[in-house]
Amino acid sequence: MPSGNGALMKYIVICGDGMADEPIEALGNKTPLEYAKTPNMDRLAREGASGLLSTIPDGFEAGSDIANMSILGYAPEKYYTGRGPLEALSMGVELAPADVAYRCNLVTVEDNTMVDFSAGHISSGEGAGLFASLQPAMPEVTLRAGVSYRNLLVVHDGRGAATTPPHDIVGQGISPYLPKGGDAELLQQCMETSRQVFDRHPINVARRAAGKRIATRIWPWSGGHKPAFPLFAKKYGKSGGIISAVDLLLGIGRCAGMEIIRVPGATGYLDTDYDAKARYALAAMEHLDFLYLHIEAPDEAGHMGSIEEKVKAIERVDDVVGTILDQFDGVVAVLPDHPTPIRAKTHTRDPVPFAVRGKGTDDTREFSETAARSGGLGMKNAVDFPGFLFS
Ligand SMILES: [Zn+2]
Repeated sequence: MPSGNGALMKYIVICGDGMADEPIEALGNKTPLEYAKTPNMDRLAREGASGLLSTIPDGFEAGSDIANMSILGYAPEKYYTGRGPLEALSMGVELAPADVAYRCNLVTVEDNTMVDFSAGHISSGEGAGLFASLQPAMPEVTLRAGVSYRNLLVVHDGRGAATTPPHDIVGQGISPYLPKGGDAELLQQCMETSRQVFDRHPINVARRAAGKRIATRIWPWSGGHKPAFPLFAKKYGKSGGIISAVDLLLGIGRCAGMEIIRVPGATGYLDTDYDAKARYALAAMEHLDFLYLHIEAPDEAGHMGSIEEKVKAIERVDDVVGTILDQFDGVVAVLPDHPTPIRAKTHTRDPVPFAVRGKGTDDTREFSETAARSGGLGMKNAVDFPGFLFS
């Protein structure tokens, strides 16, 4: 258990993206968190205290960007300008004051219907190849290939546009969800150009031959100007670091001036190297006061609607929690950033459970959505969470 001088205390917050869910009939009306074997998270709840965290302020979409910014103490009402600019930062793309950066998915649209927001989780190499062919056809914008289907489109002297996240319209017709207002005309032109360039592209021909989904077009969304966060170290007087395979999360960390810790084998997908994440986290605590350890896999399983994969992903997160609890003696907290229920296949805005070791105890016996509701720490706003941990 943590002990000693508060000023020397160290902190690890482990975020299992999208872990929270709803009771599922096929799991005997348990949630995946309740059904999965999570001895370590349960131990954390038993030895520490639990509560609920409200991570999505009113008026904001239940996005990972909003939720994770909030958990790190940055009120979206004050600092959020869009997902695109955060990812631009994480990719090392410098934004001029007049630039509007959009997140730009590679997607599969068939018969005008959004079939796959990730183009079959296309590889980074294939994505980069498609983008390289596309850039010369649209000199008005700058494209940057990222990881897998997650890429970037920058409109210089942009005005922004109303857009829809592609993962929210899987199975639906795309027409009502095309960009509107501001940069919409240019964005729609770019989408149409991508459709033509990708149509018989050798990378797509090869994917089709291999029975994989193809990238039929780009889908720009959540554009904005560069945000201005106060530095984490200045705000809290603690050095902070972040581990994540997701550009978005690294962008938030970079905005906050946190150290970005790269972990080889971290894919953000179900095959991510969990053990390496725990090892790198422990090594980083040699010099950091605070670490945000983000694991994307449960969210991916939720978007896929796969109960089995979600349970598995939660159990792997639990292994990481076990390693941290055993080998780190500071304050440890575990939480999802938002629910990604199997039923919805997308994020919801319900408060999430959290458990923390080192901030008192309560009667909670396990880590779950239901157990946390009667936790001794009650309901908190996510933006107050770091302040609570450090108090
Ligand atoms: Zn998330």
